[in-house]
Amino acid sequence: DLWDSTGHVHFDDVTFAYKKDRVILPNFSLDIPSGQTVALVGSTGAGKSTLAKLISRFYDPSDGAVLLDGVDLRDLHPKDLRRAIVMVTQEAYLFSGSVADNIALGKPDATRDEIVAAAGAVGADEFIRSLPNGYDTDVNKRGGRVSAGQRQLISFARAFLADPAVLILDEATSSLDIPSERLVQEALQTLLSDRTAVIIAHRLSTVAIADRVLVMEHGAIVEDGTPSDL
Ligand code: ATP
Ligand code: MG
Repeated sequence: DLWDSTGHVHFDDVTFAYKKDRVILPNFSLDIPSGQTVALVGSTGAGKSTLAKLISRFYDPSDGAVLLDGVDLRDLHPKDLRRAIVMVTQEAYLFSGSVADNIALGKPDATRDEIVAAAGAVGADEFIRSLPNGYDTDVNKRGGRVSAGQRQLISFARAFLADPAVLILDEATSSLDIPSERLVQEALQTLLSDRTAVIIAHRLSTVAIADRVLVMEHGAIVEDGTPSDL
């Protein structure tokens, strides 16, 4: 039976070090209620990506625990974990293959109709149809014939189709032209509704749509408030 997560994430006194003598997160606690959109900001090396990797169980805590709906991530079935938590990183936007296969990555049994619906939901359907072979157009890892903004939309369609309870997004730093920026921002709003999200935010427009903004420095949260508080 499939387990349905509500997307409640909790860091319970987590200490984490990549290497024994250098602690990155010291005694870190944080509660993210179901459905909340959290924008994570802070200077380079603050520990933002480390936090994201702990939620997606790329790494396990050295001490303490990361919990999903009160269950230690280490006690979840890997299949349940992969379905519940999806991370979208800047590097892993696309792999070599068709646009359709790229969208279906998290749901290999998806039908073409589901793939097209997911693309439509995030506003990617129009440009995909305009590609030489539409959804069957081959793209390579670096994007090939698709722009940076279009790559992001494809990765958003993939996440939308996977429909995780928790979405972790390491936002791209590359700048987009204004129309693409607007499309990506609208897609993001669609993608974020009805799930928990933690976004390592590089754009002010993303921080503005968050429910909560966390400022990290040296592995600790130094500010925690709404976008208008900060
Ligand atoms: P940025 O804004 O530059 O992406 P960040 O806030 O995401 O920074 P992290 O990548 O989480 O920061 O890095 C936090 C600390 O952990 C840094 O001091 C970094 O050097 C260290 N670190 C990150 N990844 C590793 C690793 N794989 N092995 C060892 N140390 C690492
Ligand atoms: Mg980072």
